[in-house]
Amino acid sequence: MTVVPEPTRKLHVVTHGCQMNVYDSARMADVLAPLGYATVDSPEGADMVIMNTCHIRERAADKVFSALGRLRDLKDATGGRMMIAVTGCVAQAEGEVILQRAPYVDLVVGPQAYHRLPELIATAHRTRGSVIDTAFPAEQKFDFLPDAAAPQGVIANLTIQEGCDKFCSFCVVPYTRGAEASRPAASILAEARRMVGQGAREIVLLGQNVNAWHGAAPDGGVWALPRLLRELADIPGIARLRYTTSHPSDMTDELIAAHRDNPALMPFLHLPVQSGSDRVLAAMNRKHKADDFRRIVGKLRDARPDMAFTSDFIIGHPGETDADFAATMRLVRETRFALAYSFNYSPRPGTPAAGLPQVPDEVKNARLYELQAELRRQQDAFNAATVGLRTPVLFTGIGRHAGQIAGRSLYAQPVVVQSAAPLTGEVHDVTITDANPNSLLGTLIKEHIAA
Ligand code: SAM
Ligand code: SF4
Repeated sequence: MTVVPEPTRKLHVVTHGCQMNVYDSARMADVLAPLGYATVDSPEGADMVIMNTCHIRERAADKVFSALGRLRDLKDATGGRMMIAVTGCVAQAEGEVILQRAPYVDLVVGPQAYHRLPELIATAHRTRGSVIDTAFPAEQKFDFLPDAAAPQGVIANLTIQEGCDKFCSFCVVPYTRGAEASRPAASILAEARRMVGQGAREIVLLGQNVNAWHGAAPDGGVWALPRLLRELADIPGIARLRYTTSHPSDMTDELIAAHRDNPALMPFLHLPVQSGSDRVLAAMNRKHKADDFRRIVGKLRDARPDMAFTSDFIIGHPGETDADFAATMRLVRETRFALAYSFNYSPRPGTPAAGLPQVPDEVKNARLYELQAELRRQQDAFNAATVGLRTPVLFTGIGRHAGQIAGRSLYAQPVVVQSAAPLTGEVHDVTITDANPNSLLGTLIKEHIAA
């Protein structure tokens, strides 16, 4: 058993980017707890600041260097005692550059090396120099990170898969997160049970390509995601399951059927399509066509008629013409999304599309504006359509105003009701009375208590 000493050092973690980074930040805090580090909310006076970074778009990566400039002043104020670590995908992709531009950084640690943080810190202290570890080790990080320690609340994220072998033309993930790796089923189930013991009722399975998960099974075989979802649904206390992010080409018929057969699985799927043009999808090396996406959406709606979708779009990938963009708009209008994220294409160093002739910024901006206006209309329409409906809500805690309790709908929309009882961790039916842009208001149907 690990003995965790009294906290004697202050750790501040700044997280940029995706939910997987949020999960990794918590794991790094767990790795450092046995060294006496306890997390604090502010970098002022911290013994160690970790900046866990995102490299997916240029603007995300640029944020790192401006934030490091501010941390330098805080480090100087401690006489150089504060350690600064840069972790995550910018660390992986730009390790040497970080040390050249910000030599006061003590540690640069890629996403595969978090379990080695204690020895890297010791080396930095011993050598009084900067230490960099961006190797892709043969061992799986999953096997070495400690179990999640801090409770996450009613909704808990659980990383089950890392990395990617798909090499989309625009994307840094295969270079920063390495090859696709699936965590073994037994360790996922054990972590899920622990999360339930800490109050979790909804578990969100995370992975860059989560639906490609195929993990070692306790019986010596290999399971695919539908089997894992069944085993998770059998854990007493689990009310809801979700998984994100999925690739269309890994959306198997068995997984589609799971949305019909597994009642814990929410009728809500994030399925990035990126473009509605087959020409652009081929240039992106996406391995699916626009009609494949339409077919998957259709099958899922047949399997579960109340299914709703979110997606990601990239506008202005090299070679995208007006006709290609029109095809994207057509797909968006046909599909009707609950919500979608859309981004201008951002050239990432080292990726194939970065070296191609680029679409001018003003063209990208005009297309993105048009797409986002349509997506906003669809999101508003989706939320407005819930008004008057009776729907189950998983309550997560108190709301912002007195007497309010907040929760999530089947589609992860924030829902607020008035209630004297706390209801945290419970699922109750609610009649939706009003839809705001980012949340729903409802009244509790008191006599109804769902599982
Ligand atoms: N694995 C997921 C998939 O295949 O769709 C996506 C994961 S990626 C971390 C999240 C989103 O970032 C992508 O879906 C894409 O829309 C966006 N993205 C990735 N690279 C980008 C780039 N170079 N420029 C703009 N957006 C990008
Ligand atoms: Fe990036 Fe997703 Fe493509 Fe993998 S499948 S390269 S994570 S966009």
